[in-house]
Amino acid sequence: MCFQLCQEVEPSGKTIIIAAMKIRVLALLLLAASAIPIALAEGLPDLGEAAQADLSPQMERKIGESIMQDIRLHESGYVDDPEIAGYLNRLGKKLVAQSAGTALPEFEFFALRDSTLNAFALPGGFIGVHTGLILAAQSESELASVLSHEVGHVTQHHMARSVSSQGMAQIPAMVAMAVALLAARSNPDVAMGAVVSAQAASVQNQLNYSRDFEREADRLGLQTLERSGYDVRGMAAFFERLQKFGRLYENNAPGYLRTHPLTTERITDIENRIALRPYRQVADSLDFQLVRAKIKADEGAPRDAVIEFQAQVKDRKFFSEPAARYGLAYAYSRAKDYAAVDREVAVLRHLKIASPMVESLAAEARLRQGDAGAAIGLLRAALLSYPEERGLTYALVDTLLENRQLDDALKLTMSDLQAYPGDGRMHGLQSKTYAALGKRLQQHRAQAEAYATQGQLLAAIDQLQLAQKSPDGDFYEYSQIDARLRELKARQAEEAKQKKQQ
Ligand SMILES: [Zn+2]
Repeated sequence: MCFQLCQEVEPSGKTIIIAAMKIRVLALLLLAASAIPIALAEGLPDLGEAAQADLSPQMERKIGESIMQDIRLHESGYVDDPEIAGYLNRLGKKLVAQSAGTALPEFEFFALRDSTLNAFALPGGFIGVHTGLILAAQSESELASVLSHEVGHVTQHHMARSVSSQGMAQIPAMVAMAVALLAARSNPDVAMGAVVSAQAASVQNQLNYSRDFEREADRLGLQTLERSGYDVRGMAAFFERLQKFGRLYENNAPGYLRTHPLTTERITDIENRIALRPYRQVADSLDFQLVRAKIKADEGAPRDAVIEFQAQVKDRKFFSEPAARYGLAYAYSRAKDYAAVDREVAVLRHLKIASPMVESLAAEARLRQGDAGAAIGLLRAALLSYPEERGLTYALVDTLLENRQLDDALKLTMSDLQAYPGDGRMHGLQSKTYAALGKRLQQHRAQAEAYATQGQLLAAIDQLQLAQKSPDGDFYEYSQIDARLRELKARQAEEAKQKKQQ
């Protein structure tokens, strides 16, 4: 919605396929737009009668959740990495806490592996950021400035307000806009071509509105940035660089992007606002440095990543030595050179770098060199210092499983799920643990919960039916399964009924 001018760097075949998938959904929506209630494509629940009602925050959330579910399941660029997601959410939520707005949704920040420079807000508090943009940010204040701007779009309900002002069927229009946004995020030509020919007037008008909204998001974002203690100059500096990138690629930008640029006017506006602010030097967090190094070290072939970070370390060409060392260690780990990981971890310890990301890398190197006991020791110790770091707990369950400490693994999943009952990944790990223990009923029951937390009701029901047929349960367990099955079937029937009503 905001920085699309600056993208379009190298549309890969992969993104075209993704865009095509989105366009299929979009086409479906546009075809049915006159009929108002629309069943979204697979995985997207029906929004039913409510399509005619005003867009409530709850409906925005529902739309956002549907789209997120689709992204998690089908978008190959979705970064399913608890360390990166954890960092983005810590940073994002710090900003949200300082943003203007009441009755805000639970925000979720996520990364998409995509070299183009973009970030976007979906309805209901879901904010996506391309890894290309995280790498292009030269300071944490710069990254925070983009996220703050996106938070502004959410708190001001810009997408909902765009479609409301059109006097059109609001929910289909909003879904169409969100889907167009996703399709356009990496490959504007494909997406906008489809949109313009199918529903030129409405979508084009919505995008025209975004100019005022951009200014509002800039103004609020700046406020949020300042209240959160970041350097407000980061916003002007980053936007200027983004604009320059945009110029470089202008010929590739589709028409609407040329008419809706990240304007000089916007940048001047920001500069005027920050002109009187005192200069504030804000140090980047270690997390910011390490996450960027990890993203970078995860690109390309493992050996190339090793060579790149070796050169950085050797020539001392880096913003941060810990980040360059961590990146090198991570690249070695990708290249399966675990002895070299050990060496780099030793250097990091010598530099007095304390981070759960270093600990999980160290543990993995121990495990892969056949010392699971040491790996478990490292992870347990790290969890004492960083109890909320989800990546450490996942790694500990995995390592216990590999070391055949099945009872310990099970105990850990049980206590963890008491604290995080909605954690689908942990339900999946518990299912894996039960499978290793040969407990089939419980294996299927846990897998059902893993699916249910992702909104995949049919797959969850299927697993519960397998659990019913498993021979190894007791009376109490079978009754629990029956009760849960009835619950999920009722939910599924309700959704099916809504779809039929259209
Ligand atoms: Zn924007």
